Amino acid sequence: MSAQSLNIIPRPEHGISRSLISPNALKVLNRLNQAGFRACLVGGGVRDLLLGREPKDFDVATDATPEQIRQQFRNCRLIGRRFRLAHVLFGREVIEVATFRAASDPDEDDETQVNDAGRLLRDNVYGSIEEDAWRRDFTVNALYYDISDFSIRDYVGGMEDLEAGRLRIIGDPEARFREDPVRMLRAVRFAAKLGFTLDPELQALIPRLAPLLHDIAPARLYEEVLKLFHGGVALNTFEMLRHYHLFEPLFPLTEAVLAEEENHFPHTLISHALANTDARVAEGKPVTPAFMFAALLWEPMRREMPDLDQPDMSEIQAIQIGGARVVTQQARHVSIPKRFSLPMREIWSLQPRFQRRQGRRALQLLEHPRFRAAYDFLLLRCAAGEVEQELCDWWTEIQTQAPEARAERVTAGRPRKRRRPRRRKPRSEHG
Ligand code: ATP
Ligand code: MG
Repeated sequence: MSAQSLNIIPRPEHGISRSLISPNALKVLNRLNQAGFRACLVGGGVRDLLLGREPKDFDVATDATPEQIRQQFRNCRLIGRRFRLAHVLFGREVIEVATFRAASDPDEDDETQVNDAGRLLRDNVYGSIEEDAWRRDFTVNALYYDISDFSIRDYVGGMEDLEAGRLRIIGDPEARFREDPVRMLRAVRFAAKLGFTLDPELQALIPRLAPLLHDIAPARLYEEVLKLFHGGVALNTFEMLRHYHLFEPLFPLTEAVLAEEENHFPHTLISHALANTDARVAEGKPVTPAFMFAALLWEPMRREMPDLDQPDMSEIQAIQIGGARVVTQQARHVSIPKRFSLPMREIWSLQPRFQRRQGRRALQLLEHPRFRAAYDFLLLRCAAGEVEQELCDWWTEIQTQAPEARAERVTAGRPRKRRRPRRRKPRSEHG
């Protein structure tokens, strides 16, 4: 590790004021401090406050052991087996409190470094605050806001990198990426989110080491993929992931389709989906992984569909078969929990039903619990040039109509039946 002396930035020289910190995190910091422990805010919370951004959450680091932390709080749960963390619960807000730890010798205990979920277990020994700083991933993620004097403690040169908008890994980049390849995804995520530049060294290193992600447990990659695509800058992140060859280990089937570049459907459809997701995140609207995976895997699914010219094979059945195949293959790389893969497959298998605008089935589609998501997906396909605008407009418009008008509409194009008496004046096409 390079020699780096401690830089202490006193309260008047930085922008973090207590009014910006969640009151619950402050309670935790103050309580630990009053009990005689060292207590600091660390990680993304400090980084984001210094950048004038709103932190996603506030993590606390302390020299109190998990047991000692628990003794201070009634509303406290210890989690994790090998390395225990404390969660202090305040209604829906959870403040995570971790004991300072050091990176243990990388050569010892090789087999047990990663558990079944692919979580890193190497850093499982308690340590000093300085050791705690050195085991973190990027310098800007290793700044400590110390509640005892409101100063910022920088052991790794993070302040300078923060001011320069630079993402620099702590220690030897190749060793740190080999130790935990997920750090490559984190590098891209932070670069995209913060608008930071990656060290030229990292830019060259990541494409070379990207295949190491094939060894990471799919469940852990699922968590990372959510952060990558639901963080508000999904479109930019997607382009960066592809640029650095990190997309392939996550979504090999999708990458194979994108690499062919024969038609631009998949790229356009995915870009539109991610741009939509970003817009929803910006507006504070909910986003679902089902929709994101539906867009990412739509084209691969279509390639897995059996031929439609087989007898008795409907398009819906073919989509169901293709969907099952794609989910099985994708799960080897990034797992998709059932509660999202089922709605994803439903979004897909509802697509052929939009072709049918007549009769009771059309009305039933409007009432389907997954109608809204499937309709949004239809719009994506339309934006990608895959279905006709006119069809989308029809489904857009019918939703704005009252039930009787809808019923009339779905019978409009049918062979004439006897008109019922007392029928209201028919609406014009765009009435
Ligand atoms: P976010 O805004 O996404 O929460 P964050 O920096 O807080 O960003 P977390 O995943 O919440 O990211 O992790 C908290 C801190 O733990 C990080 O800032 C970093 O110091 C450390 N950390 C997390 N993951 C790793 C890792 N894989 N290797 C080393 N340090 C890590
Ligand atoms: Mg965080």
